[in-house]
Amino acid sequence: MRKKTLLFFTAICITLLSVVTPIRTVNAANAPSSPKMGDVIHGFELTHKGYDSAIQANQYLFIHQKTGAKFLVLKNSDTNRGFAIKFDTVAENNKGINHILEHCVMSGSKKYPLNELFFTLANTTYISYTNAYTYQNFTTYPICSANEAQLLKSADIYLDGVFNPLLLENEKIFEREGIRYELTDESSPLNYNGIVYNEMQGALANIERASYHNSMKTLFPNSAQSNNSGGNPEDITTLTYTELMETYHKNYHPSNSTMVLYGDVDYEPFLKLADENYLSAYSYREHTLDSGTKPIFHQLQENTFEFAVSEDTDTKNSSVIELVFATKDTRKNSFESFVALDIAVNLLNLDSSQMKQSLLKSNIADSYEIYLDEGIFQPVVHFVAVNADPQRKNDFYNVVMAELKKFVSNGFDKDFVKASLRSLEFQRDVGTTENTAINSLISASIYDNILGNPMPNYDNAFNSVASKLDDGILENAIETELVNNTSAALTVTVPKAGQLEKQQEVIAQTLARKKASMSEAEIKALVQKTAEFNVWNNREISQDTLDSLQAVSLNEIEIEIKDRNITETTVNGVNLVHANADVNAISGISINFDLSHLTPEEFLYLQFYNDMIRSGMATDNRKENQVINETLYKTYNQSTELNVHKDDKNDTSAHPVFSANYYGFQDEFSDSLDLISDILLNSKVSDISTYSTRTIANIKSRYQTLFTEPIDLAFMRSMAYSSPSSRYLNYLKGLDYYNFVIALEKQLQTTPTEVADKIASVRAKAFNKNNLTILLAGNSTAKNKFEASMGTFTQKLPDASYPKADYILPTPAKREALTGDLTVQYLVANAPLLENNVPISGKNQVIGSILDTLSLVPEIRLNGGAYGVGAFFSENNYTAYTYRDNTYATSLATLNTTDEFIKSLDGSMTQKVLETYKLSAYASATKSSGELKSALNTLTRNCMGITTQDSIHYLNEIKETSLEDISAYAQYFENLNNNMNYVVFASPSDIDENKDLFDRIIALP
Ligand SMILES: [Zn+2]
Repeated sequence: MRKKTLLFFTAICITLLSVVTPIRTVNAANAPSSPKMGDVIHGFELTHKGYDSAIQANQYLFIHQKTGAKFLVLKNSDTNRGFAIKFDTVAENNKGINHILEHCVMSGSKKYPLNELFFTLANTTYISYTNAYTYQNFTTYPICSANEAQLLKSADIYLDGVFNPLLLENEKIFEREGIRYELTDESSPLNYNGIVYNEMQGALANIERASYHNSMKTLFPNSAQSNNSGGNPEDITTLTYTELMETYHKNYHPSNSTMVLYGDVDYEPFLKLADENYLSAYSYREHTLDSGTKPIFHQLQENTFEFAVSEDTDTKNSSVIELVFATKDTRKNSFESFVALDIAVNLLNLDSSQMKQSLLKSNIADSYEIYLDEGIFQPVVHFVAVNADPQRKNDFYNVVMAELKKFVSNGFDKDFVKASLRSLEFQRDVGTTENTAINSLISASIYDNILGNPMPNYDNAFNSVASKLDDGILENAIETELVNNTSAALTVTVPKAGQLEKQQEVIAQTLARKKASMSEAEIKALVQKTAEFNVWNNREISQDTLDSLQAVSLNEIEIEIKDRNITETTVNGVNLVHANADVNAISGISINFDLSHLTPEEFLYLQFYNDMIRSGMATDNRKENQVINETLYKTYNQSTELNVHKDDKNDTSAHPVFSANYYGFQDEFSDSLDLISDILLNSKVSDISTYSTRTIANIKSRYQTLFTEPIDLAFMRSMAYSSPSSRYLNYLKGLDYYNFVIALEKQLQTTPTEVADKIASVRAKAFNKNNLTILLAGNSTAKNKFEASMGTFTQKLPDASYPKADYILPTPAKREALTGDLTVQYLVANAPLLENNVPISGKNQVIGSILDTLSLVPEIRLNGGAYGVGAFFSENNYTAYTYRDNTYATSLATLNTTDEFIKSLDGSMTQKVLETYKLSAYASATKSSGELKSALNTLTRNCMGITTQDSIHYLNEIKETSLEDISAYAQYFENLNNNMNYVVFASPSDIDENKDLFDRIIALP
């Protein structure tokens, strides 16, 4: 079982990232013994030792003697190393103070006076990860690098950022990252702008997130636990610099900090750096953590809230009902009880659970979700009904409570917990992956915050729970924390049509009144200030400062690309492609069916079949819970999906494939293949009435999220204009599929058998012996064992031949707008390379980084206020985007002038500066992904005809990028800009303002 840590409104990075906390396992008593308890190294005393077997790391917890700062070392053999510093930061109101501080302290420091850190570090140094997160009660700053010297340098940059930020003497940083008034000239309207202000407008556009906050407000009245740590846009406008500084001085102190160091790294220089450069200047200060008032309600608290949507929105059955329970404070509860509750809640949330089945039958809502929010001191269990009838909140409450009582009296499926223990074995054998470093840094921060201990023994707690299953430990957790817990709240969040326009009108009026109240002199001063702000923002950063970020240069880095031995064989008429991976008993398997013979309509039916499988289905041979348990026991990270394979590295053509991927043990290949083939070939399509209901609910809920944060839709749609592979993705995962499912829902009500028959016939056509290729990554024994196990699998497959289907997939208009309930805007522009006489080369990536750092980020994020912006090259595509933007037309104009910007670099850029961009391009092209994943990636590239030689060639192109290339790129960008297509997602009124920018305008459903 994997635990998903919820990251509400926290990320500052380009793509919101979800972090998966690893389940930990058995403690080893005989971990290596150095250093010794009580040892003092650079002012830090070793106080605790342990071993984390999931990541095979020795744990050393040091305490700084002078300040009490904690420093946890997680030492293992992972060469992707990481460092983080975390402060406890309770959200005292809804102004987003901690979140804005998180942005501001990463905006330059005394020793490193940059304009902003993230994009500069990411684009000019040898690092693999940089970000920061604000949670409900803490803020953490993680950074990773494959180079030890660069990690040490990066730790210095981060520590100087949090302890000596330029923010202390420069209010403009707060205005840029948080909130400011903007007035471009005396006659223009007054506006609010600010990166976090725009970020949060986008983040709160989703009714489910609004419902989350409404339920917390009702459950924890007058407590910090119910505040929105990201900030409400309306409250953000009232925040002052003085208030921000007060919170900074209160929280950003070593005595309130915990540092974490991860990987194959010598901790001694890090302890020295932290002590000598930063901590030794401070004395110990007491920090108490206000964990919020404890609600001890004696009866259920109820409340109804409105949610603003635009005028023409259909609000029927679109409410969210939420039932929440506040559990015991984690610091006062046993860790074992916490783990038991976590497992029990996971069981309730399975689509096959009695709870979910009864909820679906009740027809109160389209879909339901049950989860434990563990990021706060009193973890909260949420029962959520999405797209609900608001009149039926009491029914919802009654069904949930009745099912909880049944869970307690009838018990549950113990095989599930036993099977999920297997994931610990898998995890150990798969080893570290590209995400292990960041996951370990974040988990330690979470545990330190909610438990006061960054290294709890998860292994012991989990095994202890597993040993007490027969004693009713899970039923007991549900009984005490839910059934008998009166600290609960029931809320309804109801969409109100037309309210969005009213809200925007109120803001406009407030701003108009504000402007009307200003004197002529004040107006002149603000116009002047706005202009000065832009000048300050665009100031040049000295070469010395940029140089000081580097700890390693490109010619010092030697990356060996593993030349894996790839062999292709045919077993019973099926292609097996094997790549050698240096692992023991475990292998990575990717089963791919080429779907070139299916028609577009058939893809959509197959996609729906796959969505049904993913929501949980019985087969002709296994009950649904057997499928779930065996999947957990026999396979790891199993996924099935309709995907696209490019036919060549230039993406000149592509074809759809159905892939089933998993990790499995070599001694169980026959068993795991038997399970996979049973799922693919025999899932019970005849029970479509049962399975389609929950599947459609899940699909609708997925699209609802996509429609309120449509950046992924925008990428697929925009790139579909010229890229054959994106055209498939857009068709399979964009609006075409959504419209298909809505039509299918109607059809299922009248003729379910016809639909079932259609799916069964598409399935028979799709999964065929003759269009199957299996990719296998593992050692040579794995190859022999796999070949021996393939027979029973391949014999079950039909042996028919079909001709390739001939069709044209839909493409978007060249200049397209999509309108929806959006308070911010999303823009993606795209152009193909070869058609515009631009070569596909490693050099593109270097120029892309330069463009991001020196032009797009300063112009569109720092000046324009858009939360996200960037440009990248992928195979034959150049793509530029902005998100949570508020002036897409201006952003589009900026994107159109990139050729002039590149031209301006010709003659002014120095070799030294160019080297730093090459370095970062090289770092991102050589990111480690772990041995098995890397072997699987080699196999996938091999399918596209990309060899190891090609990969080496690409890296050499990065290294060979020279100043002479710049003038060529000015021409390339002119070509690209002249032929760009674009897609904008925004509100109807925002699109209406620039109607003539679009050839086609589509309203989102
Ligand atoms: Zn942010």
